[in-house]
Amino acid sequence: MAFQREEPYIFISLLARWISGERSCEWAFWFQANWQDFERVESDFDFSVWKVDHTRLLRDTHKALNAEGYSVKIENQNWFRARHEGSPGIVIGGKPDLLALRDEDNIVLDVKTGKPHDWHAHQVLLPMALLPRSDIDEHFERRFRGRLVYHDGLVREFDRRQGEDVYDRLPYFLDILVGSEQDAHRVPSRQECGYCPISKAHCPDRVDVVPGAWDED
Ligand code: SF4
Repeated sequence: MAFQREEPYIFISLLARWISGERSCEWAFWFQANWQDFERVESDFDFSVWKVDHTRLLRDTHKALNAEGYSVKIENQNWFRARHEGSPGIVIGGKPDLLALRDEDNIVLDVKTGKPHDWHAHQVLLPMALLPRSDIDEHFERRFRGRLVYHDGLVREFDRRQGEDVYDRLPYFLDILVGSEQDAHRVPSRQECGYCPISKAHCPDRVDVVPGAWDED
């Protein structure tokens, strides 16, 4: 049974897919920001091998950062919640794969075992900007750069300014999530419904397709 959240909440990986243009069904994001424990369409994607590969890449990256003198925090140590002062009515939650901390140099890192997508960049850029404004006191006003590490050796680097540029543009999107349901466009398609966990009980426009790998994270 679905419950309306006490206040809207969005996880960074969802926000990243939307603002990067990877997904365009606004209503899917609006619904997940405002409702919880809804009836889900379960994915039949087998995550077991993906998880093993991700754990290995995470560990190797962690080890290399330690060798460079960084103090490293990993996954569950990195949960945070933050609000944007330009649209404070919604909580943004996140959990970067790794945070590398060293004197004046701090890095938000995500590791990826699949092929590169544009939204991966936003999974790093958003925490870079939000962590210093979050509920984690030790990161207050800390300056972060960012890095994406892929399993095939590709590395993408991001500077602090890029994170701030995305941050400045966030209220436009956050205002839609805290706004009325009618203002969030529902955009059914085979491509997006196949990767959406919202069942027909909540979304009567859902297109029936073979389910894919949901946005579990
Ligand atoms: S099932 Fe399709 S139309 Fe419905 S919210 Fe998800 S992506 Fe949008």
